[in-house]
Amino acid sequence: RRINVALGERSYPIVIGSGILEGIAGLCAEAGFPVRSPLLIVSDSAVAPLYLSELEERLKAGGYTVVSHIIPAGEASKSLTVYEEVMTTAISAGLDRSSAVLALGGGVVGDLAGFVAATYMRGIGFMQIPTTILAHDSSVGGKVAVNHPLAKNMIGAFYQPKMVVYDLNTLLSLPPRQVRSGLAEVIKHGLILDRDFAYWCREHAAELLALDPEALGYALERGCAIKADVVGEDEREHGLRAILNLGHTIGHAVEAVGGYGTFLHGEAISIGMAGSALLAAKLGRSRSLYEETVSLLSSLELPTRLPAEYGEEEIIEAMMHDKKFKEGRITFIVPDEIGAVSIVNGVEESAVREVIRQLKEEGS
Ligand code: NAD
Ligand code: ZN
Repeated sequence: RRINVALGERSYPIVIGSGILEGIAGLCAEAGFPVRSPLLIVSDSAVAPLYLSELEERLKAGGYTVVSHIIPAGEASKSLTVYEEVMTTAISAGLDRSSAVLALGGGVVGDLAGFVAATYMRGIGFMQIPTTILAHDSSVGGKVAVNHPLAKNMIGAFYQPKMVVYDLNTLLSLPPRQVRSGLAEVIKHGLILDRDFAYWCREHAAELLALDPEALGYALERGCAIKADVVGEDEREHGLRAILNLGHTIGHAVEAVGGYGTFLHGEAISIGMAGSALLAAKLGRSRSLYEETVSLLSSLELPTRLPAEYGEEEIIEAMMHDKKFKEGRITFIVPDEIGAVSIVNGVEESAVREVIRQLKEEGS
């Protein structure tokens, strides 16, 4: 399966399949990486033991010089400190302007390695080799970043890869909770723009949760294609691209209050998507939209309720910290129906507070 991300001269293919890492050297050549320039693979401590040596060997067999840098698994590695360490490896290994960085891992590795690629010698080649379902979202679209202690993703760039290589075999080792979290972003793409796909996800939930390669391949293809379409229209988020943030306003606040790790990203945005459907009802959309949204999310065993211990005040404060309220009002992505959303400006804080309360009540 191949999808093209159409961005003029920055266009690139997403290649999806089982076992395609076998042909990685050929894919690197197709991406335009010359064998005379060293490649830097960035991976993390959980993924590297599983897939790194095979990747290194295949690249070496294809004539490439390879150096690898393994970061500790987890969000804490998306830091300027780790960024500098990876840079040190890149400089010591003599990467040049024709070199490329290969990100082998989930969104953390992709975001960090992408920022290295974007800034090493003002930008060198970059390839994403996502190993999580969630990374179907983060590997497409070109947002790369590290975190600042005061704010997530604050230091970054728009930087497109030359290719995304999605080997479904690497997903088989994912812990079940990571599978569900990733599927939240998959169905999000359906909820935003493709009603049929959202329902398809519910119909095939059992296969998706069991990582059936046929179902998963199709789901990732549709998810990537929808994201690619939106990014193709609005690469730098001047307008339309904001719809991809469905569920993220509340979701980010839930993540921040719980401490990153309490809810995984996909779990938090699932709660956020349920919240935006509640908000939709307040803004005149039908209440059945909320019930339908919850049914779709629940089919993938995702949470849709906020545990009682989450304080309304903390959530609102976390949103403010995200600088999203202006004069007591906030912009929200609100569903109109399954498969269609609107960007609504000027949603009142009081309405958001009610939604937070309801998200907790629904849970009792
Ligand atoms: P992650 O990279 O931390 O991966 C989750 C966990 O799974 C890690 O512990 C990792 O070591 C492990 N893992 C990864 N692949 C595995 C495999 N195949 N088998 C076993 N274990 C594996 O997190 P993620 O959920 O992939 O991504 C979250 C990150 O992505 C966040 O930092 C978020 O900000 C970022 N993100 C970026 C964008 C974007 O547009 N750039 C979009 C969404 C999310
Ligand atoms: Zn997300």
